[in-house]
Amino acid sequence: MKPTHIEHLGIAVTSIEEAAPFFEFLTGNKCYSIEEVADQKVRTAFFKVGEVKIELLEPTSPESTIAKFIEKNGGRGGVHHVAFNVENVAEALAECEAAGIQLIDKAPRKGAENLMIAFLHPKSTKGVLTELCQQPGASSR
Ligand code: ZN
Repeated sequence: MKPTHIEHLGIAVTSIEEAAPFFEFLTGNKCYSIEEVADQKVRTAFFKVGEVKIELLEPTSPESTIAKFIEKNGGRGGVHHVAFNVENVAEALAECEAAGIQLIDKAPRKGAENLMIAFLHPKSTKGVLTELCQQPGASSR
């Protein structure tokens, strides 16, 4: 597998409104997109740092995995996942599966910003929840 770059870092927050001013200060950039991802029960906010993005994740329901993550973290947010950009998520997933890596998503699904995404299980990735993503319009041979 050969990712082209780290696409984004996912950071869980209790409130995007509360967290946004700090990330605007830290990155020197305004939040350029806020989007709800209904099937993940999260609201996301994006900030650019060069080519890499910071993705804030705010739970929209107590059942959200982000809500559970925050709860486990003593009510605070924190770094939740690292997302690697690949040319083709389906191929990368097949490669990971062949390498014995446990998958959370067996097939790519649609994430925020129209990316095709899939998560690998932290049990197989040294404890780091890992996302693979593919840009909209990138090859899906
Ligand atoms: Zn992500």
